[in-house]
Amino acid sequence: MYYQKTLRQGIECTGIGLHSGKQVTLRLLPALPDTGIVFRRMDQDGFEVSASASGVQRLDFATTIGVGDVQIKTVEHLLGAFYGMGVDNAVVELDASEVPIMDGSAAPFVYLIREAGLLSQNRSRRYLRVVRPLEVQEQDRWIKVLPSEDLRVTYTIAFDHPLIHQQTLTIPINEGTFEDQIAPARTFGFMRDVEALRVRGLALGGSVDNAVVLGDSKALNNDLRFVNEFVRHKILDVLGDLSLSGYFIKGHVLVHKGGHRLHAEMAKLLKASLAVNEIESSEEGWSAPQLAHPLA
Ligand SMILES: [Zn+2]
Repeated sequence: MYYQKTLRQGIECTGIGLHSGKQVTLRLLPALPDTGIVFRRMDQDGFEVSASASGVQRLDFATTIGVGDVQIKTVEHLLGAFYGMGVDNAVVELDASEVPIMDGSAAPFVYLIREAGLLSQNRSRRYLRVVRPLEVQEQDRWIKVLPSEDLRVTYTIAFDHPLIHQQTLTIPINEGTFEDQIAPARTFGFMRDVEALRVRGLALGGSVDNAVVLGDSKALNNDLRFVNEFVRHKILDVLGDLSLSGYFIKGHVLVHKGGHRLHAEMAKLLKASLAVNEIESSEEGWSAPQLAHPLA
């Protein structure tokens, strides 16, 4: 039986926002069962924003959620860490509008989660079991979720760059694979895009300390953490974005040349698919009967 989990105690760190360049203090706190992940803007009287697909506001180079004009930017790596480490419920306090980028990966967040410790809660976790395939397509880019006993991801990226070309990786997602194979993979960007991003007020905090920065033929960083670090990072991104569906998913996620917008569209579709897919509680077995011809 799988119980919901939260943090055993609060933990804090500071860092800077990748896009804003501003310093921010981040506190991760325990939360009650069925809370989900809730962000709290301490510089806005503790205004709360739940991590949910319905709150997605912007999806260019990072995922921003919000309510009205109170936003939480670049949530995907922290959400990916919660998802990959099996944290159902937590409160995230911030004193600025952007989650700190740390080293550009989810490894520092995994470290914080490990330091805080995990606490099983007296409530069973509910899974969304995909029994009818779902797909979102935009020209040659697409994301699908197919039936599978467990969560696994197959991701393909293609960039016209000598360090990347095409990379495909399939990986089952559990705490062990997430922590070792996915969490350490850093975000990446192209030197040629930096000026254009900065004119738009993006990537102001970006550097080789928090991203793999790609010049025309090589990375400006000394070393990659994996030869295919790029596709591994995209798997982190899709896990963080799909967590906005509000469910742990039992399904095989396949993505071809995806990005935050496609990922978020699938999170919305998953959330809206409850009539055709099953909610499975580890305590009760599945509870929602499958309709005979739900999409006919
Ligand atoms: Zn990312």
